[in-house]
Amino acid sequence: MLHIRNFYDGRFVDPLSGSWLENVNPATGAVYSLVARSSAEDVAAAVSAAERAFPQWSAMPTRQRSEVLLSISRRIRERLEELAMAESNDQGKPLWLSRAVDIPRAVDNMAFFATEILHTETPAFRTDEHTMNYTVRSPLGVVGCISPWNLPLYLFTWKIAPALAAGNTVVAKPSELTPMTAFLLAEICVEAGLPPGVLNIVHGLGAECGAAIVEHPQVKAISFTGGTTTGRTIAAVAAPMFKKLSLELGGKNPTIVFDDVDIERTARHVVRAAFTNQGEICLCGSRILVQRSIYDRLRDAIVAETQRYTVGDPLIDTSKLGALVNEAHMEKVLGYIDLARTEGGTILTGGGRVNVDGRCANGYFVAPTLIEGLSNDHRVNQEEIFGPVATLIPFDDEDEAVRLANDVPYGLAASVWSNDVGRAHRTAARLETGIVWTNCWLVRDLRTPFGGVKQSGVGREGGFEALRFFTEPKNITIQY
Ligand code: NDP
Repeated sequence: MLHIRNFYDGRFVDPLSGSWLENVNPATGAVYSLVARSSAEDVAAAVSAAERAFPQWSAMPTRQRSEVLLSISRRIRERLEELAMAESNDQGKPLWLSRAVDIPRAVDNMAFFATEILHTETPAFRTDEHTMNYTVRSPLGVVGCISPWNLPLYLFTWKIAPALAAGNTVVAKPSELTPMTAFLLAEICVEAGLPPGVLNIVHGLGAECGAAIVEHPQVKAISFTGGTTTGRTIAAVAAPMFKKLSLELGGKNPTIVFDDVDIERTARHVVRAAFTNQGEICLCGSRILVQRSIYDRLRDAIVAETQRYTVGDPLIDTSKLGALVNEAHMEKVLGYIDLARTEGGTILTGGGRVNVDGRCANGYFVAPTLIEGLSNDHRVNQEEIFGPVATLIPFDDEDEAVRLANDVPYGLAASVWSNDVGRAHRTAARLETGIVWTNCWLVRDLRTPFGGVKQSGVGREGGFEALRFFTEPKNITIQY
């Protein structure tokens, strides 16, 4: 059985306690590898390695650091097929999706931040004719990066790339449910010539090794993506230690459709926004708000489009949706569907587990499910389900659309669908979210700020925001 070992000081190491966790392929329900169950001692060893590596890595000329990271990016691309297969087997997502989105995005993340550091500027402020200021930014030291299971390598690299590019050394933890591609990335880093100790990866449970990273006094900042409850715990531990924190948390994103759209085209996009990656993307549009005058027609088109989404073996190209990440998550998602059913919701399509024949007979598959008839304050419309479940809610006018959209504890993303440019701009301006897509969804430009408001998080990632997070400014004043 494959052992997914920790990686620090440039070496693969067994967990010091000798404990391992089972790693399951969610499409088959079978254990296919063991993953290190790390403790605070493993984290301490990784942090020491990172501390030793910091002086050399942070002092390395920017161009040279950039070359090493570009080499990692190239090597990820060269091993795209292998990584895509590993991601699908570990996470349950369709192989075509790992190939088209997850792994290419990891390539881009590394290349983007590797080159972004070549284009930073040092601002200068002239106070008067005798006084000049300039502001330099320095890396923080050892930083912690903790990432979730839904887009494993995509989000892992989204964090470590800016951290490393800015000159920090990193102790990172992928989700213990999806550790495989981070493990392979460690191999790639060795091949690319990343010096030992610059990137260290510890595997294990969030409450054990994740918590130990957050608690370690030498870890200067935590970049975390995951659930809101975990984010709250991390903030409570890190705040009294005055650590820098970037928290990218959950969402309950509205898709707002006005009555002037092309019904068929919009239905296709709305369904894609709801169900891509089994709905396991923080940005998925799980509340579909539809102007009442087109409600019936759009609903029917959305139902028809959803029924074209085949659920099946992730390795088969025709499977639009794969498996949910594990059994517990599948049960949670099915629990919300049951709740909707028993409390007056109408299941328009889907509504249960899907049995897939053959090698996937024991996998965790759920049909894409559409629900109507629940008010916006119902738990199904307020809580993050993070699975293939979306609800439809009618509205009468712009004011009501905005009120419903904002009436949740989260504020990550929204999409607005309208051909009336004024209406689209007005609505976008009033939404309490960090991201608004108009007539599109999940169109990403890595230079733009990424993150949420309210319970969707604190801080922004992406572009120069990420480099700012992973550096500390120092202003130097000269009088002459
Ligand atoms: P979790 O919050 O459960 O876990 C995220 C990571 O944190 C995992 O590596 C986990 O480890 C670790 N962790 C758990 N507890 C602690 C702790 N006490 N201290 C330190 N680390 C800890 O989220 P999920 O993995 O379930 O991911 C799904 C969530 O992520 C959803 O809410 C989703 O919305 C959100 N998300 C947000 C995104 C955004 O950009 N805003 C993007 C993608 C997802 P382990 O799993 O090994 O226990």
